[in-house]
Amino acid sequence: MNYISTRDNHSPISAAETIKLGMVPEGGLFVPSHIPTLKEEDIFAKKNNSYQDLAVWILNLFLKDFKSKTIKKIVNQAYCKNNFPSKQVTPLVRLNKYTYLLILWKGPTAAFKDLALQLLPYLLKQAVLKTALNKEIVILVATSGDTGKAALEGFKDVEGIRIIVFFPDQGVSKIQKDQMLTTGGKNTSAVAIQGNFDDCQSAVKELFADQDFNKLLKKNGYQFSSANSINWGRLLPQIVYYFAAYLKLLRDNNIKKGENFNIAVPTGNFGNILAAFYSYKMGLPVNKLICASNENNVLTDFIKTGRYDIKRDFKKTISPSMDILISSNLERFLFEITGHDSTKIKRWYHQLADKKSFTVDQKTLTKIQNLFVGYYAKEKEVKKTIKNTYQYYDYLIDPHTGVGLSSLNKYRNNSGDLNTTVLASTANPYKFSKAVLHSIKKDVNEKNQYELIDRLNKLTKMKVHRGLADLETKKIQHKKKINLKDIKEEIKDILSL
Ligand SMILES: *Cc1c(COP(=O)(O)O)cnc(C)c1O
Repeated sequence: MNYISTRDNHSPISAAETIKLGMVPEGGLFVPSHIPTLKEEDIFAKKNNSYQDLAVWILNLFLKDFKSKTIKKIVNQAYCKNNFPSKQVTPLVRLNKYTYLLILWKGPTAAFKDLALQLLPYLLKQAVLKTALNKEIVILVATSGDTGKAALEGFKDVEGIRIIVFFPDQGVSKIQKDQMLTTGGKNTSAVAIQGNFDDCQSAVKELFADQDFNKLLKKNGYQFSSANSINWGRLLPQIVYYFAAYLKLLRDNNIKKGENFNIAVPTGNFGNILAAFYSYKMGLPVNKLICASNENNVLTDFIKTGRYDIKRDFKKTISPSMDILISSNLERFLFEITGHDSTKIKRWYHQLADKKSFTVDQKTLTKIQNLFVGYYAKEKEVKKTIKNTYQYYDYLIDPHTGVGLSSLNKYRNNSGDLNTTVLASTANPYKFSKAVLHSIKKDVNEKNQYELIDRLNKLTKMKVHRGLADLETKKIQHKKKINLKDIKEEIKDILSL
């Protein structure tokens, strides 16, 4: 299987090349030339398979140029007990008859990004071997908090790879920041930027497309790649857990063979929900995909009206990993839903760059609405949902999952749709202790993040995630804070160019 550009500006390339390049150098994103489809019976046949087996199965379908033996090896390395202590890797927790939380935060950094970023370094190393590249790969990452740490952990001390993470100084939680800044390893850098996530992401995308800068890197023996969800290697592993969730529901007789279910996803860059969309295209019996946003509700409006409009204030919320206005992976989705119409994609994305908005045609909108609904949750609603979930179900959720659940509840109230729903739980609540504690308790006096973790732990008795437990005592390794315009100079400095 080959990979093609959403903007028809690159020749088809292999999976290995795609993962190595990250994004289309001329702008645009790589997608599979076609999506493999599975028969109902083939899916059922996997009912009793382990997560690792499912991952090998799905990855093989998309990575035709990788040896099956190699895929098996790297899957077992990435999803080992040490990285994901739960046997199911992504356990399914039942809240009530209709609602299941897909727990995606058992990995080392306590967010769902680990599912992809524990695997990506192995994929990338294989890709480099396959394509006989004699250059050091420089992974550039723009992060709203969780990708940064997960990527740093995944790529730490991986030979032949350097990783540089840019994050908005004021746009991540204190714990997210400490997680990143305390990462060791000879090949890692984390740099704070004055600006928001969209600024970081745009600056990094510009660098990928900067021909002169790329030439300079090449001359010095380097090549850029990406660990953001613009890299296909980030999205592919995420398809696996939707299959795992569906098969678990079947196995436990919580849905019947042939019965449809919904998937709800707290969404930022549209990566996680795009993986859910791919799982649907491959054959999972999905009724609706519920796209949940926080007060940065560009996608809610888009799904309702067909108009994607970023001319609005960027809001800082208690779910910072979703504080995004430009959801990169929407481009991939639009490419699929228009039947690979690059002319339209190019027109819309030029309009977005020029006028900060675009509107899709009615036919496309109808297609989108047949499958997707968009809802958003206000800050107050998120807190209330966290509180209610704790009170009624004795279960602690983080604010991102809270956005998801609040949006799902609104959808249910509006539609009366009572199909079984799998809601992606994207982060461990301790990662956002302050917001979670304030949601369930009135008199919170603790200010220090680690006191907050302690208090939350004493109150709820929920075990503190291992990746956060010893964070306070770790040494800060990265101290750089720069202006947005100095990104290029900073990279030159780090790489001694
Ligand atoms: C990244 C992230 C999201 C958003 O996921 P996308 O794939 O960017 O849509 C939601 N919740 C958490 C906790 C995250 O880290």
